[in-house]
Amino acid sequence: MEEVLAKYVGRLAPSPTGALHLGNVRTFMIAWLSARSRGGRVIMRMEDLDHPKDKPGAAAGALEDLRWLGFDWDEEYVQSRRRAIYRDALAALRAKGLVYPCVCSRRDVEAAQSAPHQGEQLHYPGTCRGRFADWRAARDFAGRDPCWRFRVEPGTAVSFVDAFAGEYSQDVAGKLGDFPLARDEDGAGYTLAATVDDMLMGVTEVVRGDDLLAATPAQILVARALAPSGVRPSYCHVPLVVGRDGRRLAKRHGDTRIASYRAAGVEPGAIIGRLAASCGWCEPGENASLGDLLGVFSLETIPHKPVVLV
Ligand code: GLU
Repeated sequence: MEEVLAKYVGRLAPSPTGALHLGNVRTFMIAWLSARSRGGRVIMRMEDLDHPKDKPGAAAGALEDLRWLGFDWDEEYVQSRRRAIYRDALAALRAKGLVYPCVCSRRDVEAAQSAPHQGEQLHYPGTCRGRFADWRAARDFAGRDPCWRFRVEPGTAVSFVDAFAGEYSQDVAGKLGDFPLARDEDGAGYTLAATVDDMLMGVTEVVRGDDLLAATPAQILVARALAPSGVRPSYCHVPLVVGRDGRRLAKRHGDTRIASYRAAGVEPGAIIGRLAASCGWCEPGENASLGDLLGVFSLETIPHKPVVLV
């Protein structure tokens, strides 16, 4: 009988909303090393459902930058080509009565499309819960396609142990209420698409920035609803790179785009070395390749506070 070993599957999930910068790469480096240091697989998943924030050319640019830095992966997916899969998942949730149509404001609905980076989540008071007999009634009322919300029963809370951030609990009913999953039938947002993909792609550990820690309980609820006895990934949320002002790294902090370093003749080893030093895996000023770091990768040495690199 063939022995089936539980295999680590990790993923890199860039959103093509801008050029790849030092901050994104630090998180991807940790995710990639977490997988490869255990002989695991790496999935590349382009999360390009966020029109109009997605920028033309950003997806191809991110892949090119990552390859130049030495990243590799075993499978590649593009979310915009997987809409039928998300539609089916939504239909499954409808059939279980776990989602309902909602005609509330555009802002609310738009909030569903992007990954809700820290502080961006809204609480929904449940206005449309039980309001319409079915999708058609909601559509007739609004004169446009309603969005779909996930039903969060009163008192619902989720707790899990994060490999980096430790114990985390959220009163999902109190903090989010019924959260949005899709702009319309075909308009899966981040929570639905990322959850379905993590399940179908067999992801065993999600390593990402800790601005998405608060988005995780909603994903756990959706995963449980879709596959009550399915295997869940574990989570590892690592601190973000911030500017000196303590805000998430962005253009205002100067040009930290990988493409700009590359154009200026900076070697990939200098970039990886700098990021690795910020994780305690080499000395500041040392060059390193991803391969060099396989043996020294550890979550233990990563500082538990946001990192300032510029
Ligand atoms: N695509 C998301 C982002 O770049 C990350 C989502 C995730 O890792 O779950 O913000």
